[in-house]
Amino acid sequence: MSVAERARREQLLANAAATVDRCRRCEIGSTRRHSVYGEGDPCAGVMVIGEGPGETEDELGRPFVGRAGVLLDKMLLAIGLQREDVFICNTVKCRPTFDDGVRLRNRAPLPDEMENCRPYLDEQIEIIRPRVILCLGAPSAKSFLGPKFSITRQRGQWFEGPSGIPLMATFHPAYILRMTGGELNATKRLVWADLQALRAKLDAAPPPAPPADVVQPSLFEN
Ligand code: SF4
Repeated sequence: MSVAERARREQLLANAAATVDRCRRCEIGSTRRHSVYGEGDPCAGVMVIGEGPGETEDELGRPFVGRAGVLLDKMLLAIGLQREDVFICNTVKCRPTFDDGVRLRNRAPLPDEMENCRPYLDEQIEIIRPRVILCLGAPSAKSFLGPKFSITRQRGQWFEGPSGIPLMATFHPAYILRMTGGELNATKRLVWADLQALRAKLDAAPPPAPPADVVQPSLFEN
């Protein structure tokens, strides 16, 4: 990827992040502390998409920085990827919460929140043009594949994602962290198989074509 193309994408992502930060399309846009646009390599081959920011993410304005984030980093490292090598984001950019009378608690994003936020996610995918997309957890996968998607039956399978990009889902790290004993070991084996399939797909995928509006300079003029 050329330096100019990398800089172009960085600028586009920074502009989009500033727009997201001003967004109040949903109520959670006013209850969140920080928007969590996403972070990583603007030329990443892998885009990792989770459900929504939690409390720590909301506090720091960064995706996957709590315990689930530590596990995600380990999962990526297991297939030779640093966190900086991929782009990490969520289906919604503001923390979905409910008030239990004492404090704000995490909850799953509502369908209309995911719908409102979808243009920002589509724009990210369009700018980054990853070779593969990894959805973490059922809500993220369902936002692409529809409500009938089953994480237990269909994780690890390849689907055609936006713009024909291969897309796979695996278990969310937060879900893995809630497990113990034999159930944990069995889930780890499944996730490991998914990650290996992701690595193989990434290695086999051709590099993306340059965007239509970028003219490839000729190396040798006649
Ligand atoms: S969740 Fe997305 S659409 Fe809703 S307010 Fe936040 S940035 Fe805007």
